[in-house]
Order: sequence, then structure tokens, then C-alpha cells
Amino acid sequence: MTDRTEFTRRRLLAAAGAAPLALAAGRVLAQVAEGQPMPAGVELPPLPGERMRWAIVGLGSFAIGQVIPGFGEARQSRMTAFVSGNPAKARDLGARHGVSRFYDYADYDTMRGDDEIDCVYIVLPVGLHAEYTVRALEAGKHVLCEKPMASTSAECERMIAAARANDRQLGVAYRVHFEPTNREAKRRIAAGELGAIRHVQCDHGFNANPRFPPHKWRLEKALAGGGSMFDIGVYGLNTSLMMLEGDAPVAVSAVYAYPRDDARFAEVEGGIDWRLTTASGVNLTGSSSYCYSPYVSRQRYFGASASIEMQPATTYDDNNLVMEGGGGPRREIGAGNPMTQFAAQVDGFSEAARAGRAHLTPGEMGLRDLRLIEAMYRSADAGGAVVEL
Ligand code: NDP
Repeated sequence: MTDRTEFTRRRLLAAAGAAPLALAAGRVLAQVAEGQPMPAGVELPPLPGERMRWAIVGLGSFAIGQVIPGFGEARQSRMTAFVSGNPAKARDLGARHGVSRFYDYADYDTMRGDDEIDCVYIVLPVGLHAEYTVRALEAGKHVLCEKPMASTSAECERMIAAARANDRQLGVAYRVHFEPTNREAKRRIAAGELGAIRHVQCDHGFNANPRFPPHKWRLEKALAGGGSMFDIGVYGLNTSLMMLEGDAPVAVSAVYAYPRDDARFAEVEGGIDWRLTTASGVNLTGSSSYCYSPYVSRQRYFGASASIEMQPATTYDDNNLVMEGGGGPRREIGAGNPMTQFAAQVDGFSEAARAGRAHLTPGEMGLRDLRLIEAMYRSADAGGAVVEL
């Protein structure tokens, strides 16, 4: 019997003469795939077994929605353990994400003997940050702790002391430092594209819903530490100071700005308007609120020759940078996918911990911010008096 494929191949080869043709699974290929040498200059990421190994503590909305998926893009970091008060949830998430080591809050300290954990990421309510950070440091693990760092500056000092005593790195998860749009704004400001910065404005807030569990604890002082300034206003404060790197705050004042008869704010402040002056004379003004709707995230940087507006400025997935002045038209500047900030943050911490150097956003930065927020509260309690720092 005549093989139709063989017949077709012979005819095609004859027709093509010396032209490079090949057959694969009965199909004619115009080009031939063939192996090539290892490309020069390509940086090989560490093998999965060489990456820093992380335990995630507290499997709530932010951990499940952003932190854990972020590890999917990480190149220096991988998750090996979950710590949760809900074992069924932890095992379900473990099955989805290839995590097979589980702890709860009672056996937390036994992580000390677990060689499969290098770094611990604290994603608990703020009132629990200090306790679980110090215990992880004492168990010999490096710790990245969510923002704000703790309930008080005294707790922050205790966390920093524990990191030093145990020779471990301690970072605060200020993810905006790893977000491409904000990094681009910082680069332009540092390069002098705005001229001398004279003024920074920031507004951050949302409408707190006491029936929504992640908002409920934010309204309870013991778990939240403070109010809107702790939870959402800290983005404006920290991001503004990130852009003015090295320019230290010297004075701060603030007034409370929320309805005093609103039952949501029996324990924590619902809003605050603040003003901060730096050593070089830059004025920062900010607002933070649990009464804004919809969600507000806005940063503005005013320089002598140009300005930058970012709205939204510090979100997970959609930050926007518009530049005006500086000799060009009003222009929107793209800078990359904001969602990369989560992997970049944990990889940055992994690299710092491996190298034994401080993280880009170390515990000392979290302490600075807590001291500033405490000074804002002191000012607001005194009717807006200026507090020298
Ligand atoms: P959630 O309420 O959604 O999750 C908190 C988790 O902590 C719970 O699911 C629970 O995990 C654990 N937990 C342990 N004890 C308690 C308790 N007494 N009450 C409530 N939860 C408890 O909060 P979020 O995920 O929104 O916030 C967690 C942390 O992440 C906070 O520090 C917050 O500031 C920070 N955050 C940071 C963001 C950022 O952009 N950087 C954004 C959002 C939050 P389990 O059931 O596993 O035990």
C-alpha cells in the first residue's frame, strides 16, 4: 500500500531541492528547532530549594488576597509554613499553595526548632504585632511585620531590641517602597526633575464598616493600636517621607477631624488632619479618615519647576503618576505593574536577611513613624499645638 505521507514527503523534498525542510508528525516545517548554548549574561534565579523559606502568620484578608499570591512571582522567597488559629483554613490554603507545615498560636514558639523556616511575615491585627514579632525573633527567625509596626513606640523599641539581641533582621512591610509607580516618582524627585520640593499633600481614607470583620478590629483600640492614622494615614506619612529621603521631620501638629458622636469611634480616632515640617523647610500636609467614601489614596508633590500628582497613589493594583511643568505638557507616566510590589517586597527582605544587612524599610523606620503619629495625637489632644520633635 502506498504511504500517502511518504509520497507527499518525497514530492516536497524534490520540489524544495536544497531548501531546509523537515518533517515532524507528518507536518512540513520550514525551519528546524535546535538547542542552543546557555545564554551569556542571563542571571539565573536561585533554585526553589535555595530560596529563603517563609512562614505566614495570620491568614486574613490581606494575607490571602495579596501576600500569599505575591509569593507566586517571587524569585528569592518561598512559603513553607502557615500559622493560623483556624487549622482547616490553613490546610485548605496549604493545599492550594504547596505549603505543608502548620502551626497555631499555642505551638508558635516551637518554630524555633524548624529549620525549614528562615523568615516570618506577621499579618496579624496591629495589637498583636509586637508579641508575635518578638517571639519569632527569639525563635531565631528574621521578621517582616505588617504596618503600622505596633501599637506604641515603646513596643517598637522592644521589637528592635529583640532583633539586635538575636542578630536577626526586622523589617516593616511598607510595600509602597517596592511599587514601580512610586519608585518612579521617587527617582524623578531625587533626579531634581521637580526642582526643590516645597510642599507635599496626601489624603488617605475609607468608610469603616464595623460589621465587616477586618474593619471591626480596626475600631477596637486593643487590637488596632490607634485609629485611621494608624491604619490608612500611615501610607501618606510614610510615602511622603520616602520621597523626601533624608529630610528629617522637626515639628508636627494635628487636629481631629471626625464626628465625635459617631459610635464607630468610641475607642479610636475616625480622622485626623496633620501638618509636618522637615529640617529643610518642606511642609507636608495630610489627612486620614475612616469617613471617606469611596476609598481615597492621593499624593501630591509640588516642586519649584514641576509637580507630580498620584491618584490613586498607594493601592495594590492601579497607581497613577501625572507630571506637570518642567518644560513639557501635562503627561501621564507609566512605570510597571503595581502588583509586582508584593513579590519585590518579600524578595527584598529575603536578600537583606541572607546578606545580614538591614531591609530597605527597617524596624527603625516603623519606630520613626509611630513616634510621629504619637506626636500627632499629642498635638490633637492639645487642640493642635505644634509639637517639636
Ligand atoms: P483580617 O482581619 O482580614 O485578618 C487578620 C487575621 O489575623 C485573622 O484572619 C486571623 O488569622 C488573625 N488573628 C489572630 N487573632 C485575631 C484576632 N483577635 N482578631 C482578628 N484576627 C486575628 O485583617 P487584615 O488582613 O486586613 O490585616 C492584617 C494586617 O495586615 C494588619 O496589620 C494590617 O494593618 C495589615 N494590612 C496591610 C495592608 C498593606 O497594604 N500593607 C493592607 C491590609 C492590611 P487566622 O484566622 O489565620 O488565625
